[in-house]
This record gives sequence, structure tokens and C-alpha cells, in this order.
Amino acid sequence: MAQPTMRGMRLGAQSLESEIGIAYSERTNYKYKCANSHLTDVFFSADAEAPDTWTCKSCSNTAVLLAADGSVINEAPIEKIARTHYEMLLERRSREELEELLAERLAALRVRRAKGKADKDS
Ligand SMILES: [Zn+2]
Repeated sequence: MAQPTMRGMRLGAQSLESEIGIAYSERTNYKYKCANSHLTDVFFSADAEAPDTWTCKSCSNTAVLLAADGSVINEAPIEKIARTHYEMLLERRSREELEELLAERLAALRVRRAKGKADKDS
């Protein structure tokens, strides 16, 4: 049986607890910056040690911890950023080569379509 007081509420969006009389534990704000220069703010408990890297909230690349003055504390982790399939492809082939390959494949596909068997053998 559903509780009548819960009806129409978006669960998880709002807390049913009152904030009255609650003392928040001390928190520290850390900033992380990814290779695309997005800044991600993360709050940790004041006595917790912030990790060197965090996942960027904007592009999910690896973001590195910034010092209070905005400088990067540890540059090393940023080299581990995962490349996209497209970036890896561009390392092996130039854009011109890719255009050429695409044109070749499209031409071959059109020939097969014209024969009416494009979807039967591939
Ligand atoms: Zn980012």
C-alpha cells in the first residue's frame, strides 16, 4: 500500500528530512580540470584526502586536481586520457585517405545495390 504523503513527489529529488538542528560536517571544495579545460567542483569531507584525478562532469575525460591558486598539482595523470576511436583512426590515416576510402566503399555499395543484392551478401 502506497503511503498517501508520498504521492506526487519525485523520489530522490527532495529530502524528506528537516535540516533544522543539523550540523554539517566541514567540507572542502576541490577543483578538477580536464584536457578540454572544463572545471569540475567536488566537495570532500575536510579530513578526507582528495584524489589526484576525477572524472570530468562535462565530457567524462580524466580531470586533474588543481591547487588553490588554480595550478595543476600533478600533471602526470592527464596523459592517460583515453583517445576516441576517431582520434586513433586519424593517427593511422589522413583525412584525405579516409575520404577516399569512404568514396570507394560507397561506390562498391552502390554497384551492389544496383544489382539488388546489397542486403543479402555482405
Ligand atoms: Zn571535460
